[in-house]
Amino acid sequence: MKRYRVEPGKKISLEKLDPNDNKSFKGDKEQGLKSLAKLNQELQSLQELLYAEQKHKVLIVLQAMDTGGKDGAIRRVFDGVNPQGVKVASFKVPTAEELAHDFLWRVHKVTPGLGEMVIFNRSHYEDVLVVRVHGYAPEEVWKKRYDQINDFERLLAESGTTILKFFLHIDRDEQKERLQARLDDPTKTWKFRLGDLEERKLWGDYMQAYEDALNKTSTDYAPWYVVPANRKWYRDLVISTVLVNTLKGFKMEYPKPEENLDGVVIE
Ligand code: AMP
Ligand code: MG
Repeated sequence: MKRYRVEPGKKISLEKLDPNDNKSFKGDKEQGLKSLAKLNQELQSLQELLYAEQKHKVLIVLQAMDTGGKDGAIRRVFDGVNPQGVKVASFKVPTAEELAHDFLWRVHKVTPGLGEMVIFNRSHYEDVLVVRVHGYAPEEVWKKRYDQINDFERLLAESGTTILKFFLHIDRDEQKERLQARLDDPTKTWKFRLGDLEERKLWGDYMQAYEDALNKTSTDYAPWYVVPANRKWYRDLVISTVLVNTLKGFKMEYPKPEENLDGVVIE
C-alpha cells in the first residue's frame, strides 16, 4: 500500500493518480470482498487489544469530495468494532463558538485518548480546503495553516498518537453518478444538497487545494494516503490494509493481571 502514500518532500499531482487503479490487489471484486471480510475480523481483534492495552492512540482522518465515500468507508471498514473504544467525529460548518476560537480548538478536544481510535469524518483540513476555495478566510490566514497543522499533528504524534490520513480520490464522472443515485434513491435523498452542485462546479479549485494540502502536510509522523476510490471495495481494502498493518506493528499484548491469580478458586 506504500504506492498510495504521499512521500514527504515529494510532490504528487492528483491528475496523474488514477481513481480506478486497483493494482495492489490481484483479484476481482468478489475476492476483494473476501479479503475485506478477513481484514475486518483482524481489525476487530486488534481494536479489542488496543482498548485493553491502553497504550496507543489512533487517529484516522478521512477527507473527500462530496460522495467520495467517507460515510461508506466508515460503515464498512469499521463494521463490528467495539463502540466503546471507537468514536467518529464529524466536522460540519463551524458554530459561532467554534469560529470565536482558533481553527484547531474544536479538533484538539476530540482527538483520541489512550486505547481509543477516533475517525475524523472531515477534519481540520476543511480549513485549508472549503475555506480556501470559498475565501471564508483571507489568504494570509489560511496560508499559515499548513505549518500550524503540521505543528499540531507533531504535538499529537509526540504525545503518542498514531495518525493516518486518507484522501478518497474519485473523479468528476463518478461523482456525477453518485449524486444522481442520491437523487433517484429515496433512502439517499436526505444526503443530497443543492449546495453540492455549487461545490461540484468548483471541482478544479478543490483539486488544487487538495493537492497543496497533500503535498504540504504529508509527514513521517502523519502521512497521507491517496486512495483510489471509484471502486468502493478497493477503497475499503486499501484503508483496511493500512490500518491493520499499522495496528499489527504495535505488537500489542493483553495486559497481565495486576495480582497473582494462581490457584484462585471461585466458590
Ligand atoms: P457533510 O459532511 O456532508 O455533512 O457536510 C458538512 C459540511 O460542512 C461540508 O459542506 C463542509 O465543507 C462543511 N465544513 C466543514 N468544516 C468546515 C469549516 N471549517 N468551514 C466551513 N465549512 C466547513
Ligand atoms: Mg454532504
